[in-house]
Order: sequence, then structure tokens, then C-alpha cells
Amino acid sequence: MAKRDYYEVLGVSRNATDDELKKAYRKLAIKYHPDKNPGNKEAEEKFKEAAEAYDVLRDKDKRARYDQFGHAGVDGQGGFGGGASMNMDDIFSMFGDIFGDGGFGGFGGFGSSRRGGGKRVNRGGNLRVRIKLTLEEINSGVEKKLKVKKYVPCKSCNGSGAKAGSERTTCSHCGGSGMITQVQRTILGNMQTRSVCPYCDGEGTVIKDKCPDCNGEGIVQSEEIITVRIPAGVADGMQLSMAGKGNAGARNGINGDLIVLIEEIKHDVFERDGDNLCLQTYVTFADAVRGTMLEVPTLTGKVKFKVEQGTQSGRVYRLKGKGLPDVNSGYHGDLLVRVDVWVPRSFNKEDKKILESMDKSDTFNPRPTDKDKSFFRKMKDMFN
Ligand SMILES: [Zn+2]
Ligand SMILES: [Zn+2]
Repeated sequence: MAKRDYYEVLGVSRNATDDELKKAYRKLAIKYHPDKNPGNKEAEEKFKEAAEAYDVLRDKDKRARYDQFGHAGVDGQGGFGGGASMNMDDIFSMFGDIFGDGGFGGFGGFGSSRRGGGKRVNRGGNLRVRIKLTLEEINSGVEKKLKVKKYVPCKSCNGSGAKAGSERTTCSHCGGSGMITQVQRTILGNMQTRSVCPYCDGEGTVIKDKCPDCNGEGIVQSEEIITVRIPAGVADGMQLSMAGKGNAGARNGINGDLIVLIEEIKHDVFERDGDNLCLQTYVTFADAVRGTMLEVPTLTGKVKFKVEQGTQSGRVYRLKGKGLPDVNSGYHGDLLVRVDVWVPRSFNKEDKKILESMDKSDTFNPRPTDKDKSFFRKMKDMFN
């Protein structure tokens, strides 16, 4: 199913301020919150959709990429990232802050968050990799297998961080809530402050004996092969993010993202200009005068086009649709072929006679008109 426009999801304009985004998201999150809509799949989807939109638009970099490249700029296309890009844990852990310290419970009275108060979930770090692509690969889109070093859940302890047989126990300091409340007497009366429990680091439980293989972290370094689908039409410097494919979070936390940076390998023949490709080629003087059919390469094979009679050196022919696809729409740009006239470097006696007779011919010695001059200016602009 095609994703909706993020601005449309949040119901804001494209130049909405951070504050407007936050307000819009908050309204939707409250409306579609799972505690308010138990068992309602549609509400859950709406809840996720809003969270994803807000996650992108609140981030200056991601928003800029989204504005420029659409969904492909932030998460790729066609199941890139392997299905649902955000799960409920991501949403609760990342957006808890939008509801203030009181958690979801502070609004509309729908009880405590199902995450059980302010309990912290560890989020794994993002993983960044570079992928080098040829223009041919960019033209068609490509699937790449990457070997990456990353943190994965520790097998010995199943990611819990606890030594076998040593289960986690509820933190005695915070009673499992992950937060501690301190009461201070002030002249205004008793003041309560809530902060993350320092004994369990906000997790609510503590490990008695740490797993020796991961030193209680629940994650170990490993190598993994990840398949990355690159949509057609990406460009040098673009970043694609695959949600949940990054480092595992400590002690069964949530995964970070994998961020793929696109690098374009310079092509031997073609020069890229956005979705257009540029190519330079030569014809002989005779062909430039008479016109000819010329065969040129494209990224997908050769094509022929007509070089017209009287083609001036430097003329640019536009071969429609033979360029690169646009990453969002899939529409192909053009191939711009610049045709130059090749001037021979040597000649023999016979050639010399021909040249002399050409020199005397009126048809071979016209003066360039004003139209010719503006033509050259136009061609120059088109190619550069
Ligand atoms: Zn372990
Ligand atoms: Zn604690």
C-alpha cells in the first residue's frame, strides 16, 4: 500500500513549524492511542502512521530529505526496511517525551501507559554504511548484500544480560517502576520530583549475576549479512534509513536503524545531471553536412538517432526518456547527446585539392547569422 504524505497524515502545511508539528502529532496520538482504542487495528495503524510521520518531520535532516525525495529519501521504496517501519515499542520509547513527564496518563485520563510508567527501554545505536553504485545500478535499482559488524542479542543469555539460572529481580529501590519519587519540603509545601532510578538505570529490574559472555549487556558484537534494496534513481549523497536494522538494544531493548549512504561511481561514458545523462560524440565533416544516422550507447543498450543535414558542431540532441528515473515518480530523464564535428589532423594532395575547391565554393562559405549565434549560446547552456 502506498504511504500517505507525511504532512497530510499530520494535517499540517508543508511549512509547519516544529511547534505545529508537535501539536498536530500529539492530538492524533491521543485520539488513536491503543489504550483508548483497545483491539482496534485501524486505530493502531493510524497511531503508527502519525508516529512515523512525526519521527521524520521533527528531524531537520530527515525532513529536508523527505521534502526533496519524498518517502524514498527517508526509507526507500517497495518494502525497503522489511515491512512495518516502526513498532509500538519504538513509538512509546521515542515519543514518551512529547507527553511530558507524566507519560500518557497525564492526558485524557486513559490510565497508565502500557509500558508501565516511565520504565526505560534501551535503544541500539544506528548503524551507518556506504554503498557504491554504478549508474547502471542506479538506473535499474538494485539489491545489495552487505556484511556489517553490529551488536546482536547475546545467545548465551537470550539478550537478558543475566547469567543462566539468575533471573532478573524487581529493583527494590523503585519497586519496578524505573522511576523514583523524592519529596522535598519547601516553604511552598511538599514538592515531589520524579527521576530515573539510578540503581536499575530506569529498567525496573536488576540482574543478580551478569552473563559472562556479554558482561550483562545482553548484546555482543557480531557480523551479519543484510540485504538492502536500493530504489532506482537514487543520487550521490542520499541516505536511506532501514528501521530496526541497526544495532540491537541492550538487554532486549529495541534495535537502532541502518542508515545507508549512497555513493555514485563515476561513469566512463556518461555525465549525470539530475535525472538527465550527458554524452559527447563526433561526426565527420561530411556527415555533419549531409546528415546521418548515429548510434550511441545508453545505460540499457544502443540507440540510433538522426543527425540532421547541416548539423553544427556542438549541437545537442535530446533523446527523450533515455536518462535516469526519478526516485519518486519513476519518470525517466533524457539523454543529451552533444555532437561535435571531428576536424582531420592530416591530409594528402588530393584532400588539399578538395579543400581548395571547397574554399572557393559559395555554398561552403556562408557567414554565421544572428540566429546561428543564439543557437550556439543555447546549446552551450543545455549541455553545461
Ligand atoms: Zn549474555
Ligand atoms: Zn530501580
